[in-house]
Amino acid sequence: MTTGRTICHPRSMTRDLPLPGGCNCGEVRYLITQPILTTYICHCHLCQKRTGSAFSMSVVIPADGFDLARGKPLRTERRLAGGARIFAHVCPACHSRTHTQREGRKTVNVRAGTLDDTSWVRPVAQFWTSSAQPWAVVHGDILSYAEQPTDFTPLLIAWREQSK
Ligand SMILES: [Zn+2]
Ligand SMILES: [Zn+2]
Repeated sequence: MTTGRTICHPRSMTRDLPLPGGCNCGEVRYLITQPILTTYICHCHLCQKRTGSAFSMSVVIPADGFDLARGKPLRTERRLAGGARIFAHVCPACHSRTHTQREGRKTVNVRAGTLDDTSWVRPVAQFWTSSAQPWAVVHGDILSYAEQPTDFTPLLIAWREQSK
């Protein structure tokens, strides 16, 4: 009998890099090549509209950790109230949104559902609970913000803690 030996790794919040993903039809494929910074869901009305669902889910990574492996996503643009531009990238064939980037930011938000393996993705935070559908609010060990947080530091820390 072997003792004190771990045969299976406990289920971890991280996965070996690179992490592959892509659009619905397969024309756009990408690889995440750098460690994830954090994950969150957003219950704001815009995200509800955009997704046609209750919330959106983001996996935040360093911008140079996103490698387009196949296809040429279309770039759509919207302007925030403050004037900053947000670019969303969609498959030209099936229009799945794969990732978004705010102008000038060194991070990219990958749409969590476009990852090939979503089994490990858990949000460490939720935004805009003030406009959430009541049943969709996550209770328990998660950072909650009534609106948009101004400081992402707690999210980075929470992800690091949970990824240990
Ligand atoms: Zn597609
Ligand atoms: Zn939102």
